[in-house]
Amino acid sequence: MGGSVDLHSHTTASDGALGPRELVRLAARHGVRVLAVTDHDSTEGLTEAIEEAARHGIEIVPGLEINCDVPGSEIHVLGYYVDWRAEWFQAFLREQRAERAARVHRIVERLTELGMPLTAAEVFAICKEGSPGRPHVAQAMVNRGYVKSVREAFDRWLHANGRANVPRRRLTPVEAVQVIRRAGGVPVLAHPGLAQRDEMIPELVQAGLAGIETYYPEHSAAQIETYRATCRRLGLVATGGSDYHGPHTGRAATLGSPAVPAEVGAELKQRARDLGASV
Ligand code: AMP
Ligand code: ZN
Ligand code: FE
Ligand code: FE
Repeated sequence: MGGSVDLHSHTTASDGALGPRELVRLAARHGVRVLAVTDHDSTEGLTEAIEEAARHGIEIVPGLEINCDVPGSEIHVLGYYVDWRAEWFQAFLREQRAERAARVHRIVERLTELGMPLTAAEVFAICKEGSPGRPHVAQAMVNRGYVKSVREAFDRWLHANGRANVPRRRLTPVEAVQVIRRAGGVPVLAHPGLAQRDEMIPELVQAGLAGIETYYPEHSAAQIETYRATCRRLGLVATGGSDYHGPHTGRAATLGSPAVPAEVGAELKQRARDLGASV
């Protein structure tokens, strides 16, 4: 596998701005050869991404991201090479999305109490068929003029400890790791530098965690070194990706950046095989 590797990206199936085909075409322009599509609680973008990738000589790693709340922070778990076509797994994802929709109702109630009246319908009009989340709430707040940008909505109201944030009621991070393993996938702790909950790594490994997202736009060189060392010590795969959500989505990211060592794509696939996936 030559060319660059990016193991974290989002499409309109969740809170990305680009459709799966547009994302893959952009990846081709950026020289990405291995791209994981990791939408939040959805694999709806994968079929189109795989079709489009075939025309550009890009390999798609099927994935998803499960966000979990813990006291004072949130832990995101990536899952790669899950058996995403399994009916039970799709039923699980539908339940996850139903909880996301219920959470949108709770967040708009909170915002209304805080003097920023908003309806869930306005939020759902933004995410359309995609998995709803706080970025869509943030955009609805921008549309109403409550904040100037998605970024400001998060910084002032929607961050993990923000006054308008309402925690999810579903999975613990351990359960997210377990469900990915049950689906034959490779669970990877996403951007641990943002979560600041490294003390949870041992229990996640105990539950079946197989990797840590080490190369990440918002990780410092020191953090990258720390997570590389942690992965070496615990026998985990040090993965990485851009977490690209498309242009104008409040986070600065470039598809294919930061650089992820070329062999990581093959290491991840080998780990999937070791765990029983037929890839
Ligand atoms: P949720 O799906 O509701 O957990 O929202 C999580 C998503 O919100 C992340 O995947 C990012 O896309 C986005 N997000 C989180 N923090 C910020 C921020 N400070 N600015 C812009 N977007 C953010
Ligand atoms: Zn997102
Ligand atoms: Fe994330
Ligand atoms: Fe993400």
